[in-house]
Amino acid sequence: MRVSASGVLALLIWLGATIAPAASAGPARTLLVRDMAQYQQATASLRPGDTVVLADGTWRDARLVFKARGQDGQPVRLTAQTPGKVILSGQSDLRLAGEHLEVSNLVFRDGWAPGGEALSFRISRSERANHSRVTGVVIDGYSKPDRGEADHWVALYGHDNRFDHNQLLGKTNRGTTLVVVRDEEQGLDNRHRIDHNWFGPRPNLGSNGGETLRVGTSHDSLSDSHTVVEDNWFEGCDGEVEIVSNKSGGNIYRGNVFFHSRGSMVLRHGSGNLVERNVFLGGSKAHTGGVRVINARQTIRDNYFEGLDGQNFAAALSVMYGAVDAPKNRYAQVEHAVIERNTWIASRQLLLGTGMDDERNAAPKDSRFANNLIVNGQDNPLVVQGDISGIAFAGNVQSPIASPGFPDGVVAHTLAMTRAATGLQVPSTPLPGIGAPRDLTPIAREDVGVTWYPKDAARAALDRGRTESVAPGDDTLTRAVQAATPGQRLQLRAGRYTVNEVLALSQPLTVQGPAQGAAELQFSRPVLFELLPGASLRLAHLTVDGAQAPDEAGNAVIRIAPGANTANYTVLIEDSRLVHLDGNRGFDVINAGKGTMADLIALRHVLASDVSGRIVSAAAETDDGGTYNAERVEIVGSQFTRIGGAVVDLYRGGTDESTFGPALDVRDSTFRQVGRRDDASLRLRGVQHVQLVGNTFDDSAAVRFTHAVGTPTLVATRNTFAGTPAIQSDIPVEATR
Ligand code: CA
Repeated sequence: MRVSASGVLALLIWLGATIAPAASAGPARTLLVRDMAQYQQATASLRPGDTVVLADGTWRDARLVFKARGQDGQPVRLTAQTPGKVILSGQSDLRLAGEHLEVSNLVFRDGWAPGGEALSFRISRSERANHSRVTGVVIDGYSKPDRGEADHWVALYGHDNRFDHNQLLGKTNRGTTLVVVRDEEQGLDNRHRIDHNWFGPRPNLGSNGGETLRVGTSHDSLSDSHTVVEDNWFEGCDGEVEIVSNKSGGNIYRGNVFFHSRGSMVLRHGSGNLVERNVFLGGSKAHTGGVRVINARQTIRDNYFEGLDGQNFAAALSVMYGAVDAPKNRYAQVEHAVIERNTWIASRQLLLGTGMDDERNAAPKDSRFANNLIVNGQDNPLVVQGDISGIAFAGNVQSPIASPGFPDGVVAHTLAMTRAATGLQVPSTPLPGIGAPRDLTPIAREDVGVTWYPKDAARAALDRGRTESVAPGDDTLTRAVQAATPGQRLQLRAGRYTVNEVLALSQPLTVQGPAQGAAELQFSRPVLFELLPGASLRLAHLTVDGAQAPDEAGNAVIRIAPGANTANYTVLIEDSRLVHLDGNRGFDVINAGKGTMADLIALRHVLASDVSGRIVSAAAETDDGGTYNAERVEIVGSQFTRIGGAVVDLYRGGTDESTFGPALDVRDSTFRQVGRRDDASLRLRGVQHVQLVGNTFDDSAAVRFTHAVGTPTLVATRNTFAGTPAIQSDIPVEATR
């Protein structure tokens, strides 16, 4: 068909008449809205260049839908009247759909998202945002109160979206902080850019689902996302073993700083990803890792790693065993990996051949490890597990001595190192082409996130508050606890304190007696202290006497109730006596309920006698989903006499590999007539690291250890067993480590 020139002109006029009015009906508008009704009205007919401004103040339960079509260079904007002064709280969320949108300068705080996402780049499966940007948004502690209930704080859908200069911190419930969702319908070739964000502290979740960033899922991982993640900070991102979980191909991770974060950057699924010019600074914190390599054609080059203490899955480098033709959700064999010009300094372990087992039985192949620099004192961090004949080594330098087993491929070379102006260490005499480039400079912390919201908000902690003196008497302590402020220390004088209510805590508190003399606590309720979310407790220089507690089964000095969602708390009992906790059966000192998780439970220089239950009962997670009740338990310089149950019952079931704990350290302590009721003086299942050093077991039940997951260690040194069976364990007991 031929169309005449006049026909084309008529068509253009007709098109102009139907499309142009929206764009030319007036200049771009700035629409200040003060409530949801005004918001709905303003957003009903937005034009390119329009800006909707939320008035300063707290927007409670605001469910914002922002749907518009901007144009390239003329986005439709949603912003705050003043950055930091618009607070979305309660059950607020924000969903975007359209083209060329820009959202900025909002704060989500003091609440949680009512649905599965706080900030979503889609309204529904069919209405998504593309070519859109979210910048300068803060999401602070916006966690669902049920820590087992999952959500994502930010979900990117569509394509060509940018998420930059945002601050996300304090997620405590299950679910990835920021996720790129991709499938045929949501878009596979995403080309998103995630940059200059500050991913602040995310505490240990104690299960899978604590990732800070995930790109894709295993289902669509064989396609490329082409997402770029660059110049971000990940600081204190301790949620689980994966800080970043890459589950798609063709992505670039460049110029990010991983600062004091537990876990590692994991190339979990998808191939052909590039990890370059990132800086990993562990500060020797436990479980700080580097990069974990799985799948084909991954390139890890020009990165810098320092002070990483992680091992195994969280090693400073971990190249995994996989399976040939692995199912998409399992471990694909490493092939054509290129690992070159990286620097590792003072890092505990570089592991080649991680995770070899019956399923993961295919060694890395056609791969290359070249021109890397390893500086590590007298240790040999480079460790081989299995067959590494498929990795070619060339030009690597290790100072001062080379790990054994890499003839020619790793050369010993004593190097003097200096800290350059970049903050990173480099050889005093340059080694051209070996190690991370000398111009590698980590992006400054002040250049990520926003300038108008703190990155160092003072969080409540034990002993950070004032000291308040408390006199002996009936419920004097009860009243003092009720009036306490976060982190306060209650200093008791010598004398007897009777407590007739359960002392419920939702903030850190220290209760301590005089260092010389005696402060004695008696309580008439089944529980002395109950720990709610936000609580931590330190007891020092006290006598706790259970003789007045009711004659009921299941009393406890400290209880963390099932379903309370109390997590990341600390309990310390120091230089104290615990007596007469035997009025009925099952009287525990510390009882941790299902769904709760301690960061640390420690007893130091404690004398406990006549306890009918357990000293530390952390064994409520019996559904074997990989969760547990305490990350770390420490017993130091203590004496236990006539204890009915185990001194520690610590349970971690299931085969999930997403966590590091639990760990137990028992040293210089004495057990007499302990554990008859539980047939164990220490009952440990699925514990990952156990150290028993310098203890005496006398007329007590056995230490019992059962393997559940991973490659746990059980080290026993200088213990004596009299009238007590030897350690019962299904893994070898090591004498030293
Ligand atoms: Ca995970």
